[in-house]
Amino acid sequence: MTTFLAAIATEALAGESIFAIPPMESPLFGIFWAMMGLFVGSFLNVCIHRFPEDDLSVFSPARSHCPKCERQLTWSENIPVLSWAFQRAKCRGCKAPIHWRYPLVELLGCAVFYASWRMTTPGAYGVLIVSSVVLAGLIVATFVDFDRYEIPDQVSIGGMWAAPVASWLVPALHASGPVALAMSAGKPVDSVAALVECLAGMALGGGFLYAVGWIGSKIYSVDAMGFGDVKLMAAGGGFIGVKGVAAALIIAVVVASIFGILNMVRFYHVVRTRQRARKMPHRGVMDAIRTARIFGRYLPFGPYLALGIGIVLLDWKDVLTLLPFGL
Ligand SMILES: [Zn+2]
Repeated sequence: MTTFLAAIATEALAGESIFAIPPMESPLFGIFWAMMGLFVGSFLNVCIHRFPEDDLSVFSPARSHCPKCERQLTWSENIPVLSWAFQRAKCRGCKAPIHWRYPLVELLGCAVFYASWRMTTPGAYGVLIVSSVVLAGLIVATFVDFDRYEIPDQVSIGGMWAAPVASWLVPALHASGPVALAMSAGKPVDSVAALVECLAGMALGGGFLYAVGWIGSKIYSVDAMGFGDVKLMAAGGGFIGVKGVAAALIIAVVVASIFGILNMVRFYHVVRTRQRARKMPHRGVMDAIRTARIFGRYLPFGPYLALGIGIVLLDWKDVLTLLPFGL
């Protein structure tokens, strides 16, 4: 910590101007980027709130309102995390409670921007910007999906358009993609190779989930996979490539299964408690299991896909080694 602070002090003193953006490898840049993430997180709250509403635009009205009293927020009520903390989680006007999710999303924005900076090779500004923006989009997809069981097209379809463009402009995104490497034959991955890797990742990610959904609908005659998940995975696949898609899907399935089982256990206990209160013990157990299986299944899958894509994007190999099959 002391060496870290000393490094910051040296940077600040050595720099010609403290207002110039410091070089990417310096800790000061890391702090600058994390602060950017905090303010982006504030904007993500607006996206989470407004994307699913057809009649609301992210840019107008430009200023945020209190959802209860409709009062426009002043700049001092718009400071990430701090405003919420100082106002004790209440609107300054009508005293309506402000959900803890607002500061949580802001802190998540800060965390993913900081993590993107940590994993990016110094100087690779394009990779830093793309991975930060993609992670921000994944945060929006996660919270909207938890709220409404749908993934906003602004994120999924937007990502499907953005992935090929980003891959062309920043080929380094796919520097370790198997398709791109095979095309490059020892030379650094160029725009064409990166674009092919991107399209292959989109086809594999979207195609795999579409196939799973199609088979599920034939077997169970219900929609097992939402089309939003297909679009999200296609978009994500465009950024993480074919190998990334495989890893992200495994992470998503493993984590979703754990939470799915926990969710069923929770419903089982709810039903059993209710049955015991009504004194119907005998046929109770099987009944409870059946109810738990029906209700426990209704979990959105998007947040787990987002988690998988995010982990792969940040290149968290330590997380991947914890999984089976040694990816
Ligand atoms: Zn209010």
